Amino acid sequence: GNELDLWGEDAGRPAPARRVSVLLPLPLGRPLDYRLPDGESAEPGTIVLAPVHGRMLHGVVWDSEPDPGFPLSRLKTASVVPGLPRLAPDLRRLIDWVAGYTLSAPGEVLAMAIRSPLLAPLPDRTVTLWGAGPSMPEGAQLTPARKRVLEILAEHETLSLPDLVREAGIGAGVIRSMAERGWLTATEGAKAPAFAQPDPAYQGAAVLSGDQRAAADALAASVTERAFSVTLLDGVTGSGKTETYLEAVAEAIRLGRQSLILLPEIALSAQWLERFARRFGVPPAVWHSDLSPATRRRTWRAVADGTAMVVVGARSALFLPFADLGLIIVDEEHESAFKQEEGVIYHARDMAVVRARIEALPIALVSATPSLETLANVEAGRYRRLSLASRHGGASLPEVTAIDLRSTPPERGRFIAPPMIQAITDTLERGEQAMLFLNRRGYAPLTLCRHCGHRFACPHCTAWLVEHRQRRILQCHHCGHSEGMPEACPACDATDSLTPVGPGVERVTEEIELLFPDARRLVMASDTIGGPEGAARAARQITDRAVDLIIGTQIVAKGWHFPHLTLVGVIDADLGLAGGDLRAGERTLQLLHQVAGRAGRAEAPGRVLLQSYAPEHPVIQALISGDIAAFMEAEAEGRRPGHWPPFGRLAALIVSGEDMVETDRVSAELGRRAPHAPGVEVLGPAPAPLAMLRGRHRRRLLLRTRKDIAVQPILKNWLSEVSISRNVRVDIDVDPVSF
Ligand code: ADP
Ligand code: ZN
Repeated sequence: GNELDLWGEDAGRPAPARRVSVLLPLPLGRPLDYRLPDGESAEPGTIVLAPVHGRMLHGVVWDSEPDPGFPLSRLKTASVVPGLPRLAPDLRRLIDWVAGYTLSAPGEVLAMAIRSPLLAPLPDRTVTLWGAGPSMPEGAQLTPARKRVLEILAEHETLSLPDLVREAGIGAGVIRSMAERGWLTATEGAKAPAFAQPDPAYQGAAVLSGDQRAAADALAASVTERAFSVTLLDGVTGSGKTETYLEAVAEAIRLGRQSLILLPEIALSAQWLERFARRFGVPPAVWHSDLSPATRRRTWRAVADGTAMVVVGARSALFLPFADLGLIIVDEEHESAFKQEEGVIYHARDMAVVRARIEALPIALVSATPSLETLANVEAGRYRRLSLASRHGGASLPEVTAIDLRSTPPERGRFIAPPMIQAITDTLERGEQAMLFLNRRGYAPLTLCRHCGHRFACPHCTAWLVEHRQRRILQCHHCGHSEGMPEACPACDATDSLTPVGPGVERVTEEIELLFPDARRLVMASDTIGGPEGAARAARQITDRAVDLIIGTQIVAKGWHFPHLTLVGVIDADLGLAGGDLRAGERTLQLLHQVAGRAGRAEAPGRVLLQSYAPEHPVIQALISGDIAAFMEAEAEGRRPGHWPPFGRLAALIVSGEDMVETDRVSAELGRRAPHAPGVEVLGPAPAPLAMLRGRHRRRLLLRTRKDIAVQPILKNWLSEVSISRNVRVDIDVDPVSF
């Protein structure tokens, strides 16, 4: 009780030590109590350093009340870290809200907002910059690493040590040894100002067309209003959605408020960043997982102190501590890349809407093919819709046709059908570019022994190994396991019997080399493109017309603008439609529509050819007719009766463990104790879509409820009734993206 506080060790002290409740970025159920040093106090949101399990961690003073009954003398001491921003109440509420919705520990959500490395002190204002000279090395003394350093410096003149080490991919020792020989000089340089201010009146603004103007004005007005609103901004690819929402960003800048723009794959968005810089005179601040620690720290602080006015980021940018956020944009809102599938399982688009609601902000969801969820919210009157009717500047939408592979198949062992070959030939003859799309990396998705029928499977996953011929390996695309391509079949020892089955982009490229030996080819696949720089280089080669034929995986679909590209060929339009996933049709349509949207974005009209064995499929028909809305309505009608999302709620329990018997026992028990109530239904347990992943067996149970029933209390109650052994894990996925 309170006795201790009143009459115990605190008695008679002038300023009793303060107790605080501190949320730590750890998967703990609740905040932990600490005491502050005498005379110190800290409001909620203050960042403190606290000892936990023998180490010091940054945590945040939380809003919960510390337990007054716990003896003060037994509390550990946390100390306030000077010079750090406080986490605003709205961000704390968001963290609690996301934890509650996803049934994660609040500390796990906090870990997405603060991590100790982010909070380390920033370097001094001045840094040592390295440049070439004064003496020059003799040729023989140039190791590849040293040569690389000089090349980098020829390009950049001077760089700080960390930047130089990172750019050249070498150790700091190389630079020291070069400096000792007089090949490098050090100068004191001032650090560049953190973030230059974007200028809303910069010359890059486009003259908007009528409906673009109307949409831009409506969005800008919602920025001025400073109230919560959700707008769906839709319109075909190339209709100027980006141009339009950048005007709302300009309005926020004019008002001195920050904007957050979420993109599904920021690391591959070089063209987007260039475009922003053309519009506003300076590049935006970017946020994604590939940033160097120093850039991360600098950006986090600049977001917190408000000097980073516009932040473009991947989903994790949602938890940045904005000083004064005024607008959120979610571009390509239908993309499943916004769903984080590990750790805290959450959908960044949905949580962005939550952040907007908590902070009373406007948010715009942007897509040419909005998700069924978003359309349902428009239908229900919760979201406003602004539509851009046509492509900008009279560019027409590409004409889409199917190539029926049943009547015009490719040659044996080939994958490009004669009508496609003809279309490519015509395109190249006109001096235009063609792109072939196949959403599969590597050479072949399956390798088979013709002699005994052996198939190469991943030892850790329910998946075939994919051959990567250039690297001479077989690789699992789920866990990364790889093995050398064997000479003989491991099952029957036959040689020359291993046969690739089906195409990957490497194999299509091989076929293209045979068919069009003189065409300049470029392969764009996420594993071979060479990161963000490589992707930017590739995009430049295409716009500069340094290539004729592009062969790519889904990364070619990502919003690129290639003015000379007039033909898009889809090698396997049926890929993705097979399988039991209810969302497969919607997803395939969105992907193929986006790929198709790369064609004919300038004056020359575009064409899209879809190779298919089932051209009568509604997805293919919708792409041909261009009537996406009708397809989505039919999809909606298919989901309504069964209360499938968006007409009901869904949560998945993924039970996984290395021990199959235990995994099955826990899933069976969950099945037996499934909740029963009107409007509540449990499907499963059944093998999860990947029945084995990274050596863990996986079972899935789906909880489906009516829309007006919250799944969280049901899940909590359900899980509390089942004893889950230590070596089995149950992951909760509220609103799974595939079902
Ligand atoms: P979306 O985001 O809908 O795909 P974009 O905003 O990328 O469309 O516009 C497609 C292309 O048309 C871009 O190159 C863009 O710069 C150009 N564009 C769009 N609207 C205008 C405009 N009003 N004036 C000039 N160019 C425009
Ligand atoms: Zn695997």
